[in-house]
Amino acid sequence: MGLYTDKRKTTTTPDGYELLTHESGPIEYKFNWHMGPFWSKYLAAMRDEGKILGVKCPKCGIVYIPPRAVCGQCFVEPNEWVEVGPEGLLKGFTVVRFPYIDPNTGHLMKVPFTAVWITLDGADTRMMHFCNELDEHKMRVGMPMKAVFAKKPRPTSIHAVERFDIIPGGKVVEEVHPPRMDVPIKMELPTKATAKRKGAGAKKATKKKVAAKKK
Ligand SMILES: [Zn+2]
Repeated sequence: MGLYTDKRKTTTTPDGYELLTHESGPIEYKFNWHMGPFWSKYLAAMRDEGKILGVKCPKCGIVYIPPRAVCGQCFVEPNEWVEVGPEGLLKGFTVVRFPYIDPNTGHLMKVPFTAVWITLDGADTRMMHFCNELDEHKMRVGMPMKAVFAKKPRPTSIHAVERFDIIPGGKVVEEVHPPRMDVPIKMELPTKATAKRKGAGAKKATKKKVAAKKK
């Protein structure tokens, strides 16, 4: 038990009781969650066969990595499994230099590390992973990268792929951005007149309410 100071810089309740803390010690909690049929097949293939599998939407043809149960555009179930990668293009990266807890292990990650977003060959969505290059000046969006699988037995997680390596001498593919839409977005912004009218109406309403209460 101990005392603490609240926002008002007091150590008591408004009527003079001590503000108390309760010390409960460290908490450790083990938990599991189901991966479901899509993620199970994805991780098992990565671990046992050294393959990265995605799913293809039968309607729009998008190949999802990681696989998902419903196409986000068409709302139908992707029914075809396709092998993608192991090469792909770097679409984004961040060199992390602050302590960060790995959600897979609950332990602090060794810093610095580089998080990368890769579009694997044959996939339309990005996969998040790690890269062994820690110098951001040596990295460029559009660089070809290659998945390096962990040595067997591989873990049952995305760490079955140990990391992504930059392919030496690979051609950087510049990102082609779609042209900006120059159609003005029509939005009704409140003009001075409408704002005044609304404000006046609100005031009248309150006055009426007050008058009704008085009666
Ligand atoms: Zn679709």
